[in-house]
Amino acid sequence: MCPHCGGYLNVAGHIIFSVNKSNKKKGLILLSPQIGNYTSDKHKEFNLAKGEAVAFFCPMCQKTLTSDIDENLVHVRMHEGAGKEFDIYFSRIAGEQSTYQVSDDEFFKAGKDAGRYTYFKLSDKYKPLVKRKRRQKK
Ligand SMILES: [Zn+2]
Repeated sequence: MCPHCGGYLNVAGHIIFSVNKSNKKKGLILLSPQIGNYTSDKHKEFNLAKGEAVAFFCPMCQKTLTSDIDENLVHVRMHEGAGKEFDIYFSRIAGEQSTYQVSDDEFFKAGKDAGRYTYFKLSDKYKPLVKRKRRQKK
């Protein structure tokens, strides 16, 4: 879900994002909702170079999905059964595989580059910070 408008980004087994390349070219990208699955789909003419930073936007409200905690991470929300909610963060650098699933009492990381974002290495410190950020948004 988009953290701004609450709209569902998940359609037909993919998460759909509106993206901008650094040269302002716009496109749509489909990612897997499965954490740790880095397959993606997009128009064949819409090429991303490895290492390129891509700006992610909600296709419904057009707001940026760049996270507050690191400008290289995208932030979305995830619902699971029983009212459980997570914050999902993943890298917006093409080819970089880092995903983090965070809730008040759980933390899970995936991807070969997951060690890259030092914020999440401070395992005991991330929890109060994430909570504070959430409170500020409300
Ligand atoms: Zn939105």
